[in-house]
Amino acid sequence: MAEKETKNILECLHYTEEVLEKAVKNNKVNVSKLYVQLLNKERVPFAHVVWCNLTLPKHRFIIWQATLGHLLTRDNLVRCHMQLNSVMCPTCDMQQESHGHLFFQCQFSQLVRSRIAEWLGNAIWPVQFKDWTTWMMGKPKGLKQKLVAAVLAASVYLIWWNRNNSLFNLCSMTVDKVFYLLKVYWKARVANLSRTKLESKDLAFLEKLSLM
Ligand SMILES: [Zn+2]
Repeated sequence: MAEKETKNILECLHYTEEVLEKAVKNNKVNVSKLYVQLLNKERVPFAHVVWCNLTLPKHRFIIWQATLGHLLTRDNLVRCHMQLNSVMCPTCDMQQESHGHLFFQCQFSQLVRSRIAEWLGNAIWPVQFKDWTTWMMGKPKGLKQKLVAAVLAASVYLIWWNRNNSLFNLCSMTVDKVFYLLKVYWKARVANLSRTKLESKDLAFLEKLSLM
């Protein structure tokens, strides 16, 4: 066997051993860890916020796409050389549509954001798209941080849904309706939590938000 081929096989075996070592704990294979290792890609720093376990899967997908700037906003479609009748934001028709406009500068998003800030008692996302990923770093700890992550994801989902409804059905939700839907999502998530596992500060927090 050629020397180069032997070297390649040894490198491959060494790599497999490393991958398995990282995915095995107490003689048990963690399949999700193994999968991530095999992908051989670094976890993005905002992954924990996007894939928070209290967030609905459909919300996770949209916020993931939004954070990466991959939603099919009109500026992205123009970049793909698509001919459009308009490049303006379908929700407000005031400025050209981009991720930055839709989730930060659009009047509708600003109203949604300030309404949520009033409800939760703090702003849950920054005012510029470029700060978003930095702000989302770190793993949400405890119910309150997880709630903030889930509300952020649900808000982004609803803003995107409303944008599509404005574009295809010429119909926009009110901010009150967005807020109502956010609470519906959250009441459903909270209903699945075990009361006995919640700390008293969590219960007080949920009561304060009228989620119980
Ligand atoms: Zn707009």
